[in-house]
Amino acid sequence: MNKLYVIPTPIGNLNDLTLRSIKILKNVKYLLCENTKITGKIKKHLNLDLKLISLHKFNEISRINEIKLLLKESDVALVSDAGTPTISDPGQILIKELKNDVEIIPLPGPNSITTALSGSGLEFSSFSFIGFLEKEENKIISKIKQHIYSEVIVAYESPNRINKTLSFILKNFGDIQVVIARELTKIYEEIVRDKISNLIKNTFKGEIVLLIPTKEINLIDDYKIHINKLIEVGLDDKSIIHYLTSTTKFKKNDIYNYLKTIK
Ligand code: SAM
Repeated sequence: MNKLYVIPTPIGNLNDLTLRSIKILKNVKYLLCENTKITGKIKKHLNLDLKLISLHKFNEISRINEIKLLLKESDVALVSDAGTPTISDPGQILIKELKNDVEIIPLPGPNSITTALSGSGLEFSSFSFIGFLEKEENKIISKIKQHIYSEVIVAYESPNRINKTLSFILKNFGDIQVVIARELTKIYEEIVRDKISNLIKNTFKGEIVLLIPTKEINLIDDYKIHINKLIEVGLDDKSIIHYLTSTTKFKKNDIYNYLKTIK
């Protein structure tokens, strides 16, 4: 059975292609990529003898049969413009369609989420990746609230919108400390850890990962919503009190009293 290799590509620094990725790229006949111009640079850099085939969000479905035929002939590799395919990038639909007939071989490699987290200076054992943030304040805030149980919320944001998004977070959750990881692996790489009131004085350019440590968020008014959710999940009173007092700023007495009133 031929294989589909899922290969992460650099998010800014060509030296971040792994040796294994290079070896595979040198051996496959076909390379599926979002943009042939962008991946053409890697092809040239590595002097690859392969055919680039475009696969982006607008043709991913229509190309599936064609790709199945290619896979009958030889191994195929999949990349996106930068980072790991399928992570806010094409590839999910293709892999879902092929997974029963073709061996899917994912390779580890560059990814902006893990790169940002690893340099963030945050302490965490769980995180939620929520992709690109919406534009509207209510959608951004409700998305953050949905993921409040992770220790860190990780989002993609554009340089044009980051300040607006930060101001929404400030308005709804207070002047919390967040992390902006910008232009990772590139010349102007920067990781800024500061309170929002300080951050919004700046202009951030380039590609951005925003990290929000949820412990900072004080949802005083919403503590009942938290409790109801945790009851729904099946936690007992003791676990709810322990969880909320160790991961939020809610007061033990408030939690206890509310639990008593609803029993
Ligand atoms: N699949 C990619 C990955 O694994 O990182 C992400 C693709 S997504 C379409 C592009 C977004 O990722 C950018 O808008 C930005 O938020 C983030 N990103 C990509 N490269 C980055 C970098 N070098 N520094 C910071 N963020 C980056």
